[in-house]
Amino acid sequence: MKPRPSFPARLDATLAKTRPNPHGAVVSTAVAASKSVAQAALAKPTVVPTARAKAPLPHAPHMPQGHGMDSQAVRQRMVQKLAGQGVTDPLVLGAMGAIERHRFVDSALVNQAYEDTSLPIGLGQTISKPGVVSRMIELLRNGATGRVGRVLEIGTGCGYQAAVLSLVADEVYSIERLRGLHDKARENLRHLRLPNVHLLFGDGMAGYAKGAPYAGIIAAAGGEAVPQAWVDQLVVGGRLVAPVVTGGGTQALLVLDKTPQGVRQTLLEAVHFVPLKSGIA
Ligand code: SAH
Repeated sequence: MKPRPSFPARLDATLAKTRPNPHGAVVSTAVAASKSVAQAALAKPTVVPTARAKAPLPHAPHMPQGHGMDSQAVRQRMVQKLAGQGVTDPLVLGAMGAIERHRFVDSALVNQAYEDTSLPIGLGQTISKPGVVSRMIELLRNGATGRVGRVLEIGTGCGYQAAVLSLVADEVYSIERLRGLHDKARENLRHLRLPNVHLLFGDGMAGYAKGAPYAGIIAAAGGEAVPQAWVDQLVVGGRLVAPVVTGGGTQALLVLDKTPQGVRQTLLEAVHFVPLKSGIA
């Protein structure tokens, strides 16, 4: 067992003080009691666990069936395509096959859920393409055979990538700056009961220092540069994968390795992500 920083224990202590709200979600009493949730979040992101009980299976058999997307076969076809595009990490391919992407998009878009395309999720944001999600998570894992340690995701969106990450990492902290999407992700993830996913509402530009250090940081929104806070919150030996704006307003995938000798950065292929923005809304 790898030694783990004391943070989860302290977080659990905080969560022990949580109470269920009428909709069955869990809210932090500290935040619920404050006058302005938004103001509280500015100072300190809200931690919302997606499940209280441990449940091993990442599927939801009690959900409505019958639109043809419930079949494992449709996901397996997607996984084969991802493998054909060069994704080889068995844990990543397994996770992509297990998480039902159609449950994260609007019903009108369900038929496109297993195509390699980004789709709108509201508030001008998108769920990333499966090809990009699997590529970035494979890069993040950097050849690990088992699960990687604690991971921070910037840009929860609808929660899809957080769900995939939950199957390949020990703990997932995912932060979103738009309240509407943070709530949507909480709703989407509730049925999956993923006890190792922690949703945060706040500005991910500052990372989430309380969870640091992270074995991996993955961003789903692209800025001009990688915020120093992200690098600071990465463990030595950890890896960050993020879209960054390059010349001419285009974006490319950046892989940043934090080594004992310093930071090593590698720019990879062009990508198209929504912009990384400051503040919360
Ligand atoms: N991983 C998501 C992709 C969502 S798109 C999914 O699987 O659906 C990227 C998200 O990043 C958007 O929801 C956007 O609101 C969010 N975002 C942009 N800047 C951010 C910031 N500074 N902090 C947190 N989230 C941010």
